[in-house]
Amino acid sequence: MKVIAAVKRVVDYNVKVRVKSDQTGVDIGNVKMSINPFDEIAVEAATRMKEAGVATEVVAISCGTTQSQETIRTALAIGADRGVLVETDAELQPLAVAKMLRAVIDKEQPSLVILGKQAIDDDAGQTGQLLAALLDWPQATFASNVEVDGAWATVTREVDGGQEVISIKLPAIVTTDLRLNEPRYVTLPNIMKAKKKPLEVLTSASLNVDPSPRLKTLRVEEPAARKPGVRVSDVATLVDKLKNEAKVI
Ligand code: AMP
Repeated sequence: MKVIAAVKRVVDYNVKVRVKSDQTGVDIGNVKMSINPFDEIAVEAATRMKEAGVATEVVAISCGTTQSQETIRTALAIGADRGVLVETDAELQPLAVAKMLRAVIDKEQPSLVILGKQAIDDDAGQTGQLLAALLDWPQATFASNVEVDGAWATVTREVDGGQEVISIKLPAIVTTDLRLNEPRYVTLPNIMKAKKKPLEVLTSASLNVDPSPRLKTLRVEEPAARKPGVRVSDVATLVDKLKNEAKVI
């Protein structure tokens, strides 16, 4: 069984991004970039399937600029066997990414495609769902456990108020939630080995995908500054303020 993991290069989760002064977006010049954390979980899940003998090959795919090769190399260091970069300098939105992934999937014919539930830069949370719709494949989003058995997968989903267990027929799309696994620490020998693994570079034009954006960002704003709190002298004053000022009880 071939498994594909989609990996996006995003601003590292430790970086505190700043909104540009013209409010057109956030400033990502000179900031640390990393693999999207949910995609690291996707690669880890696919790698564990290979180690368990369930998967035979793990392919990491990224769409973006040539620097996304670094993200693919991280996936290869975790355990993916080879990488595919769909190279483009265009500003990518989820529909364009889903179309690019579909084009690669048409060629690769995997049984399972694992994506993150969301990319932590744009927080769109759309690509997996759009891809499932384009392919007309079953999807299991927000997965906290995935067990493959023959032509079916049993997926535990993180839903409001608990967990839902569903069965989906392969080929299928799965998106990862945080609890699916804890990605391994990438060792230096594996980083070195990853440098030698194959990485194919395609272009969006060769896949016949138009990457033009469909949405236009009108404005990006910093969240409003929180008002300072007040210290109250006793419980009675607190209850009085909650009742009469905040009017929440
Ligand atoms: P989003 O819908 O943008 O929140 O992204 C959800 C998931 O889709 C990510 O966690 C990735 O697995 C995948 N994805 C999004 N953008 C890309 C990209 N440019 N290249 C590869 N995978 C992507």
